[in-house]
Amino acid sequence: MAKIGVFIETDKDEVKKTNFGAITAALDGGKNEVVALLMGVDANSAQETLAAYGAQKIVQVTVDSADLTASPDLQARALADAIQHFALEGLIGLASARGRDVFARLSAFLNVTLASDCVGINFEDKTVRKSHFSGKTIATIKLNSDLLLCALRPNAIEAQKALADSQVESYAASVDAPGLVKVLEVKKGDTAKMDLTEADVIITGGRPIDAAENYKMLEECAELLGAAVGASRAAVDAGFAPHSMQVGQTGKTVSPRLYIGCGLSGSVQHFAGMKTSKVIVAINTDKDAPIFQKCDYGIIGDMFEVVPVLTEILREQTGQ
Ligand SMILES: Cc1cc2nc3c(=O)[nH]c(=O)nc-3n(C[C@H](O)[C@H](O)[C@H](O)COP(=O)(O)OP(=O)(O)OC[C@H]3O[C@@H](n4cnc5c(N)ncnc54)[C@H](O)[C@@H]3O)c2cc1C
Repeated sequence: MAKIGVFIETDKDEVKKTNFGAITAALDGGKNEVVALLMGVDANSAQETLAAYGAQKIVQVTVDSADLTASPDLQARALADAIQHFALEGLIGLASARGRDVFARLSAFLNVTLASDCVGINFEDKTVRKSHFSGKTIATIKLNSDLLLCALRPNAIEAQKALADSQVESYAASVDAPGLVKVLEVKKGDTAKMDLTEADVIITGGRPIDAAENYKMLEECAELLGAAVGASRAAVDAGFAPHSMQVGQTGKTVSPRLYIGCGLSGSVQHFAGMKTSKVIVAINTDKDAPIFQKCDYGIIGDMFEVVPVLTEILREQTGQ
């Protein structure tokens, strides 16, 4: 049994749902002991949520006289100390904006190889699986370091409940140097209704959306589905949507349970960003569109007719 840490991400002191898949990965079907590490956030309030997925130890990491939540650099240094203190053999996190920032610093600080944006881990072989060449291949990579440092693509591993006997601890990490970076303010982008990279369901509009205001049609449907709304690069380049909504090789990488593509041709560059979605549904007027070769369910039809019908059915079913 290996002792694996999970770097828990929070938003306004709430544990993000995407952490649960990382805990499931770390637990490895009960073969490992999982230590959940919260950066300066109260561990008691997170205990029930994290223990439900198998975290046995839930630790509030603090540093003396500094706000750990404000600096990714300080968090990386505190994590380095916690890894040693808890004798962790691996640390798992998310390849989210925050995770990428903290894990890259931690990797440099410890001089340990980092595997980022992984879609699978095998603790016995010390291998990870990563999507390469715009999603055309999945590479299995062997890590030779003693400590397994791995940031997982959010939602790549399905979270599974596995109630654990848990205990809460507080650990004051010893950090010599002050962090090199301090975040003074976070300004949210104008579109950030729901973070695409963390959404369970995504509905995306491609080039034929034709105007920014037409995304309203997708937003209405998304609200009923509890989904985030995405865009293709063609739609972004045409000025219909901001770049923060772009999915693909030069946009965001997503791995939702359900991906509904409306008016997408199915380009390799778009698929590079959403190929690992669990179920892909395509709506396209052209029966020969390449996306129909790559999706699980296809609807040949005009999205301006199909989406409102879907919204109506959802409204009836949800009573909203
Ligand atoms: C280096 C590089 C990086 C790139 N990065 C990205 C990226 O990150 N993300 C990305 O998306 N693209 C990216 N692209 C662009 C990519 O190659 C495609 O051009 C783009 O994805 C096409 O977008 P689309 O599917 O919305 O539009 P189109 O290719 O124009 O396809 C529109 C589809 O909608 C169908 N259609 C038309 N009207 C309707 C209707 N009313 N209802 C339903 N279906 C309809 C058409 O039959 C067609 O299949 C990149 C390209 C390059 C070269």
